Amino acid sequence: AYNFCAGPATLPESVLRQARDEMLDWRGTGMSVMEMSHRSDEFVQIAETAEKDLRELAGVSDDYAVLFMQGGASSQFSTIPLNLLGDKGSADYVNTGIWSKKAIAEASRYGQVNVVASSEDSGFTTIPDQAAWKTSAEAAYLHYTPNETIGGLEFDFVPDSPNVPLVADMSSNMLSRPVDVSRFGLIYAGAQKNIGPSGLVVVIIRKDLLGKARKETPTMMNYQVIADNDSMYNTPATYSWYLAGLVFKWLKEQGGVQAMGEINLRKARKLYDFIDNSDFYANPIDPRFRSWMNVPFTLADDALNSEFLRGANACGLLNLAGHRSVGGMRASIYNAMPEAGVDALIDYMTDFAKERG
Ligand code: PLP
Repeated sequence: AYNFCAGPATLPESVLRQARDEMLDWRGTGMSVMEMSHRSDEFVQIAETAEKDLRELAGVSDDYAVLFMQGGASSQFSTIPLNLLGDKGSADYVNTGIWSKKAIAEASRYGQVNVVASSEDSGFTTIPDQAAWKTSAEAAYLHYTPNETIGGLEFDFVPDSPNVPLVADMSSNMLSRPVDVSRFGLIYAGAQKNIGPSGLVVVIIRKDLLGKARKETPTMMNYQVIADNDSMYNTPATYSWYLAGLVFKWLKEQGGVQAMGEINLRKARKLYDFIDNSDFYANPIDPRFRSWMNVPFTLADDALNSEFLRGANACGLLNLAGHRSVGGMRASIYNAMPEAGVDALIDYMTDFAKERG
């Protein structure tokens, strides 16, 4: 089966096989990774290797701390303002869809949020031109969502932010293509798309941004505390961390983010080209900003949606229903979705349109 779920999403099969093989006895220790002390030499080795591999894959320099935190990406919506708002008290946010809006709503509880650009008027089908953003040099940071998982809208550029730290929610496109980390103050990503199991959230933060948390910040949300304790202030999500490490190893074997970016572009182009050349399927997003990871599409007649999904399921093409807030279909084609999965989807869509179109 090919699983097109937006998250938790499909993981590389070889990673799952390795996890299965190591489940009861990790490398002759007689223990599952799940049963190890997080302070043991074995687990510390697993944790450090995962961090090292992630640094290598994403090109993260020593100027940045890499944190393995919990609570998913959503917890970062409040963790970020609590840590970074500081004395300035205001932050700039770009609104490009449902996930931006959630980040904005949460940050608004802690300080003044200035929505400096929004594509809501277009139904979130495009990215506002950066030349028109009303950013402020007084903001504590500038937040944006490089890939809107629900809308299928993705930035094809990194915004310029010479005066204030750039903060990015890369939950659904982390490690999908090369990115210059040095352009960012903070990057965060819920793990359940391109990294591993849900609940884990990876944070890459420039070290000069540590130590600025408000007094009332919960200890578990204080980046400085988490960094000082190598993400082990409390018991970390050990098994998720281990699985993330296996995914990073797999990604290195595939040739890293450069190779992955080429494969992802090819997969996405194939699917969008097919949709554009069909008069039965449609995608509303400005072609320049179509997501490489999440491809929403509609059928010519919504009344056929259930039949489309039933038929897809029967062929092993799983979880193609669009997000409950937008309807239609969505194929999430993250790193671990093989190109053959996209080919199988296109074959099914072709047959369905022939029969029903
Ligand atoms: N941000 C983006 C872009 C997402 O796609 C998601 C989840 O799908 C989240 C945030 C929320 O992540 P979590 O469920 O880990 O809190």
